[in-house]
Amino acid sequence: MISDSIQIAPKPQQPLKLSRSNLSLFVAIHALALLSPWFFSWSALGVMLFLHWLCGSIGICLGYHRLLTHRSFKVPKPLEYIITTIGALALQGGPIFWVSGHRLHHAHTEDIDQDPYSAKRGFWWSHMLWLIYPRQEIFNYETYKRFAPDLERDPYYRWLNQNFIILQVALGLLLFALGGWSFVIYGIFLRSVLLWHSTWLINSATHIRGYRTFDTEDNAGNLWWAALLTYGEGWHNNHHAHPRVAKAGLKWWEIDVTWWAIKVLQSLSLAKNVVMP
Ligand SMILES: [Zn+2]
Ligand SMILES: [Zn+2]
Repeated sequence: MISDSIQIAPKPQQPLKLSRSNLSLFVAIHALALLSPWFFSWSALGVMLFLHWLCGSIGICLGYHRLLTHRSFKVPKPLEYIITTIGALALQGGPIFWVSGHRLHHAHTEDIDQDPYSAKRGFWWSHMLWLIYPRQEIFNYETYKRFAPDLERDPYYRWLNQNFIILQVALGLLLFALGGWSFVIYGIFLRSVLLWHSTWLINSATHIRGYRTFDTEDNAGNLWWAALLTYGEGWHNNHHAHPRVAKAGLKWWEIDVTWWAIKVLQSLSLAKNVVMP
């Protein structure tokens, strides 16, 4: 198991320092998302919902999380590249950054120093402050690449890790050509902000609330509304109990939309070695 092999995580070396550039970026993108009522159209809303599902469920949950971080199943390499590229369009960092951070989270869950978004530092730290006060030992490429050596070996993933923003600009230009500013505001800014907060709720809310099917050593809970917002990732107690299992919703009513997509890939013989409970 990949996350088990990570024994040494970085200890904090410097006091926390506010990153003005990260803060400005987050404030600007939130402000642009707040313009959405003035740019509303039903087609823009449709674009937003489609890209939210595509980048969120397929890119982040299925791709960055279950496929790359936990290797819960295998897909042919070209398809893995496509899914990872969709993950990079979610604007949550490159694959090596995202995967290494999440592996550290599993290897040292809720440890104040070694879990990048430890909920023991409080709700807002685990939700978003960890991105605004970036700790060098976790944000420095030379440090974090050690936690995803399988991805770091791949030239395409190294390129994507540094240049994922280019893809976002290209998507923005495409949306502008198709539907003007309305499509850009909904398809890039509102979609990214909603997807950020739903992803972040997994690090914050589900480590504070939710029922516990499994008696794990951390406080991860199963939170139905977070699961609905995140295409299944809110069944976080199940996930921490069995991180490699491809399916997060285990009871029949624990809806796991990302699992449906994995089942589709499996039925097409595109997903193999699917790890089951
Ligand atoms: Zn967690
Ligand atoms: Zn995980």
